[in-house]
Amino acid sequence: MANSEISKGVFPIDISPIIDNGYNFPFTQEDLSYSFDALEPHIDTATMQVHYNGHHKAYTNNFNKAIEDSNINVGERHLIRILTNVSKYDDPVKNNGGGYFNHLIFWRMLTPNSTLTPLGTSSTAIINKFGSFDNFKKAFGDAAATRFGSGWAWLSVGLDGELFISSTANQNNPIMDVVEPKGLPILTLDVWEHAYYLKHQNKRNEYINSFWNVVNWEEVEIRYQEAKGIIGK
Ligand code: MN
Repeated sequence: MANSEISKGVFPIDISPIIDNGYNFPFTQEDLSYSFDALEPHIDTATMQVHYNGHHKAYTNNFNKAIEDSNINVGERHLIRILTNVSKYDDPVKNNGGGYFNHLIFWRMLTPNSTLTPLGTSSTAIINKFGSFDNFKKAFGDAAATRFGSGWAWLSVGLDGELFISSTANQNNPIMDVVEPKGLPILTLDVWEHAYYLKHQNKRNEYINSFWNVVNWEEVEIRYQEAKGIIGK
């Protein structure tokens, strides 16, 4: 099947460049590029262990099981294809598929060697859109802090090519056809309690402030350039 056919779905842009990157069933966790204790003291070792080996592993296994139990054709068992058409499938596919994808990119957004400030074209775009890096951090932090219950904060490139900040409930994300606004995420923060409760208990703002010390701005820049290329604006 041609990629242009695969990518035809409810999601309103051609996502074939992402599809070319792989991610077909059965899905597996990527190895982390850093050790569980590498993000100390900003993100603690115990949280990293249970988050990766417990929560993300369960989403991965349950996503594979949900696909096996579903009517998704073998040729359509592609991660991005499934998420951008997720309204067609049952909740176990949406919830576990979202949990699989969101954590996959979240781990890549973290590094023990953060530059602490954005780089390159994504830095320019952030400053142009939000006025300053500090303004951006405030707006993203507010989105993370005010997400009621479990969910995620996002910085994405929208379908108009502009950056936007959003938050989603549960394991939803901006590439799902059921989510508005839609876009291609370039930075995300997990604000489920399991992401911070062992170290910070109810103090989500402490966790959000710690996050800025371990953001992988090189990964953000790569994702920004990729997203701009896909959206073509
Ligand atoms: Mn999580």
